[in-house]
Amino acid sequence: MAVRPTVIWPDPRLREPTVAITTVDDSVRELYRDLCDSMYAENGLGMAAPQLGDHRKMFIVEPKLAGLAETDQPVCLMNPEVIETSDEVQDSEEGCLSFPDIYIKVKRPMRCKVRAMGLDGQLFEIEGEALMARCLLHENDHLTGKLLVDFVGPLKRSMIKKKLQKVKDAQGEAEAEA
Ligand code: ZN
Repeated sequence: MAVRPTVIWPDPRLREPTVAITTVDDSVRELYRDLCDSMYAENGLGMAAPQLGDHRKMFIVEPKLAGLAETDQPVCLMNPEVIETSDEVQDSEEGCLSFPDIYIKVKRPMRCKVRAMGLDGQLFEIEGEALMARCLLHENDHLTGKLLVDFVGPLKRSMIKKKLQKVKDAQGEAEAEA
């Protein structure tokens, strides 16, 4: 179990292709636990493996958002596939742990259904509405290399880049001192 540093954009690891998970072994379970620890450390609603610099197709969703009890384990989705989205859309601000303190208005379907493999190795389907749908689609985007900045124009993108480069530089200095 470990909290690992979140990969901050424009780190190229956020854009690298991801690979499917075929068997749930100790290293897959370790990735899941690291995602949980890292998500809770940052008060996130979800987190995807590339945000820890890992390229396996896995993301997690905070249990309460997923309709479970607060004390339940986060939902683990491996090799997810979005199988349904509603025509009805929602348009609100979205954040991302890889874009600290940046919020971007993103239009997304109001509802979606995702099929994925769980930690027990079995396929399951999960539905989301409003924020849950937004979270499922946002985390799924991470596994295809799609990021928040892909929803803004070039000017705003370069402003965000400048701002986050400062955050990354500060992170690098802190690591060098540690
Ligand atoms: Zn994100």
